[in-house]
Amino acid sequence: MKLVLLGPPGAGKGTQAAMLVERFAIPQISTGDMLRAAVREQTAMGIKAKEYMDAGGLVPDEVVIGIVRERLQLKDCKDGFILDGFPRTVPQADALQQTLADLGKDLDAVISLQVDIEALVERLTGRRSCADCGKGYHIKFDPPTTADICDACSGKLIQRDDDQEATIRNRMAVYHEQTAPLEDYYQQAKLLKSVDGMADISVVQEQILGILQAD
Ligand code: ADP
Ligand code: AMP
Repeated sequence: MKLVLLGPPGAGKGTQAAMLVERFAIPQISTGDMLRAAVREQTAMGIKAKEYMDAGGLVPDEVVIGIVRERLQLKDCKDGFILDGFPRTVPQADALQQTLADLGKDLDAVISLQVDIEALVERLTGRRSCADCGKGYHIKFDPPTTADICDACSGKLIQRDDDQEATIRNRMAVYHEQTAPLEDYYQQAKLLKSVDGMADISVVQEQILGILQAD
């Protein structure tokens, strides 16, 4: 199963990817997670990427394309993968196509999560994640059993720096300008499957599983 999850920030890509990982035992490849790890480790790439991320902009294509190209060649991707947050621009989508062609692979589907803008802001401002294991929560829609504590590992829940309202507005504008054109791109490639991302987390998951089983 070789999938792309497409959608604006807060659409539920990471939440759905985590559930699909369990179900299909294939890796989630989140460029956002990989970049945040590079920022934490203060690698040269992380230091450069941080400026773009803090402003809510996109990290340059060549940086992200390089990370994904390397990642897709690792052994754990041989039976499939879930791309979460990549591609985000047309050049990234072209590079993905080329990388997969070089590996003798092709995408099975691009799942596009459709969510209203007002809901996205509420989702992002209420998003929390575990500082230790990375598990995601929402203070209202997917709360932990004990406030601010991870159910899975008892780690502390934290809020991402870029989930502040001012940065969120920028990220939405960037999405509409640079990422939304990928809907047409994948529609033309006959890979696009739209899903109502406004539904409850478990209902969205059922819709996605329905699409994948029908394919
Ligand atoms: P993305 O990876 O697309 O940026 P996330 O998966 O991190 O989005 O989801 C953003 C926030 O919204 C998280 O706090 C998550 O718990 C919550 N969330 C995800 N899907 C839904 C949903 N269908 N309904 C309500 N909240 C959701
Ligand atoms: P995400 O975790 O997917 O919301 O990504 C967080 C931030 O990382 C984004 O706002 C961008 O600055 C950067 N980022 C993640 N994925 C990409 C990508 N494919 N292209 C460019 N920048 C990215």
